[in-house]
Amino acid sequence: MIPPGETIGILGGGQLGRMLALAAANLGYRCHVYAPEADSVAADVSAAFTQGHYDDQAALAAFAAQCAVVTYEFENVAAGPLAAIGEHAPLHPPVRALEVAQDRVNEKSFVEALGGRPAPWAQVDSAADLAAAIARIGAPGILKTRRDGYDGKGQWRIMEPADAARLDLPAVPLIYEGFVRFEGEFSVILVRDAAGDVRFWDSARNEHESGILARSTVPAPAFIAAQVEAARALAANVADALDYVGVLTLEFFATADGPVFNEMAPRVHNSGHWTIEGALVSQFENHIRAICALPLGSTALAAQGAVMDNLIGDAACDWAQILSDPANHLHLYGKAAVRPGRKMGHVTRLIL
Ligand code: AMP
Repeated sequence: MIPPGETIGILGGGQLGRMLALAAANLGYRCHVYAPEADSVAADVSAAFTQGHYDDQAALAAFAAQCAVVTYEFENVAAGPLAAIGEHAPLHPPVRALEVAQDRVNEKSFVEALGGRPAPWAQVDSAADLAAAIARIGAPGILKTRRDGYDGKGQWRIMEPADAARLDLPAVPLIYEGFVRFEGEFSVILVRDAAGDVRFWDSARNEHESGILARSTVPAPAFIAAQVEAARALAANVADALDYVGVLTLEFFATADGPVFNEMAPRVHNSGHWTIEGALVSQFENHIRAICALPLGSTALAAQGAVMDNLIGDAACDWAQILSDPANHLHLYGKAAVRPGRKMGHVTRLIL
């Protein structure tokens, strides 16, 4: 067990790290953030900050030597250099989870082997591969980078085969996915401790705009709720197969034929921000509890439900108006520059 008072290392300096650090502080821990950028909204609320690159093994080792345990809030970190951390402090979730989740081909193959069903997909490394993929899977579909994509970045919609011919293919590994005709999207968020105890929060319905999460609503409507059990079974299998410790998220499309796996994140997730006020114990606190081997807290609802809206780009400038409604829970991430498409904060309303 890592008792309160110890230092938790967090790789990644964004809002997820910030909310993890705030939850850790509530439990009496200190946090030490490691991130490549000079400005970190996670470091702003933490006891210590190391600015370093994710492949700088010496800097990672020096950082880990000052931590009792290390976690990450960002999955696009090369797995190899993280071995330097393991020599000094335990790293949770396991590096294997990162390797699986950071590559869409690995992720889909891994989940298929456990009985999950993703959209039809094909690996694409050339224009000929793409033409063959479209011939087999059909269009419409989405071409995505295998790695480093997030919030809809690194994705190209292909409505008809001719679109592919017009594309200037980026020189990175790609994947082509058939377009899923879904009725809605939802996520399964679980926490697993080292003894294998697994708990799930209620699944939110997630609505995206331009590939970015706009709103999460709990409880989800009945057509989604009916698919949650099957999705949870898959998520628990994934967590067990990885010997996972911490919070794990799987995203799904709810279709007429049941849940279709979209992607996984080996970390706390935007679609779980509602748990800060809407659950007895939030995803952030339970992640800290799991990695420190403290008893897990209840994931039960603290209200009838909750609605979380992301504040993207200049929507965050409306903070005064948001606060004029006393029932709103406003979270601003403290980012200096507003940019279109950038997640600046979120607001949660409980359904009482
Ligand atoms: P992703 O980053 O892969 O989760 O994609 C972001 C969003 O784009 C998803 O949440 C969906 O709304 C949409 N999307 C991604 N892949 C597909 C697909 N194969 N079929 C339909 N919509 C998709």
